[in-house]
Amino acid sequence: MTSIYISDPIHADVLADVQAAADVVHLGFGPEKVDYLAIADSVDGIILRTETFTREMIEASPKLKIIARHGVGTDNVDLAAASDNGVWVTVTPNANSNAVAEYVFALLLSAARKTGPAVELVRSKVWSDGKAGLVGFELSGRTLGIVGFGAIGRRVAAIGQGFGMNIIVSDPIAHSHDVAKTGAALVELETLLRESDVITVHAPLLPSTHHMISRHEIARMKKNAFIINTSRGGLIDEEALVEGLESGAIAGAALDVLEAESVDMKNPLQHNTLPLGSTAGLVVTPHIAGQTEDSLRAMGSMSWAEVRTVLDGVRPQYPVNADNIRITQAADA
Ligand code: NAD
Repeated sequence: MTSIYISDPIHADVLADVQAAADVVHLGFGPEKVDYLAIADSVDGIILRTETFTREMIEASPKLKIIARHGVGTDNVDLAAASDNGVWVTVTPNANSNAVAEYVFALLLSAARKTGPAVELVRSKVWSDGKAGLVGFELSGRTLGIVGFGAIGRRVAAIGQGFGMNIIVSDPIAHSHDVAKTGAALVELETLLRESDVITVHAPLLPSTHHMISRHEIARMKKNAFIINTSRGGLIDEEALVEGLESGAIAGAALDVLEAESVDMKNPLQHNTLPLGSTAGLVVTPHIAGQTEDSLRAMGSMSWAEVRTVLDGVRPQYPVNADNIRITQAADA
């Protein structure tokens, strides 16, 4: 008997496929929501979106063989616990890279052209009188600094070039000749901070990248700089960002992710409690960058394919813990 746990909503067509193939499907959302620990002893495979998977949850799952991340970040899974317990952890590379990259420009254009305040103005029945406060800036000719030149960073570079932006990149594993082939230039982070008009972060959240943008980095940015984060909230020190916005050290921020991924009335970035003026260039959205009809279908079907592969006794296609997994179930591993 196959028992699958799905942590958060997935594409309806993929959910139907899982329900048709598995004996039991437990949902971690909606009216049939279960508490994972209550059903952990029966679960063979998991499709995981944003729920945090701890050592306790993994160790309570004696039959578990795979946690298939619906996406690419694995910061919500205790990878060491998964490896110690012979559980594969897989990702769905590239399935939402384009969705995130396009969304960077949705945020950037919205911040640069003040579309949010402009919409509010018309809703409040004002037309010409409010236009003076809605002067934006153009992307063409400006410098876009990309921190992290992986799947998403590369796609952002290509789109930025379409807008006529100069692209500079910082990434510890990138080679300058590879970056140069894309028309971008590899630079040190300090140079990127100093020269960029817009900075967008696409590094994974790791102990080494936690708060990689903090007071020191913000102090080096141009006063008219915008920073965009569609990666993980923990990459930016939010207290330092609030200070930077309040003091005018930078002009704005567009954030799809925050450290606390929930409503937090005390967070000035969420509730516009920053002094008037410093909110003009602030756009915050609730982690939707990777969420399109196309990407949800791709992430759902790729993660379900990984679950089926492992439950059939075969090595998954995109494991992240292949080097550390202690007991492998894969026939060919
Ligand atoms: P990727 O693995 O293809 O690329 C990440 C790049 O970051 C790598 O080239 C790596 O060398 C680089 N990097 C690591 N440490 C760095 C550092 N200190 N400075 C600069 N670069 C560094 O990953 P990706 O597919 O491009 O995704 C990037 C991140 O975006 C993911 O880890 C995930 O957290 C996030 N993401 C968010 C959403 C969303 O919906 N908001 C969706 C998908 C991915």
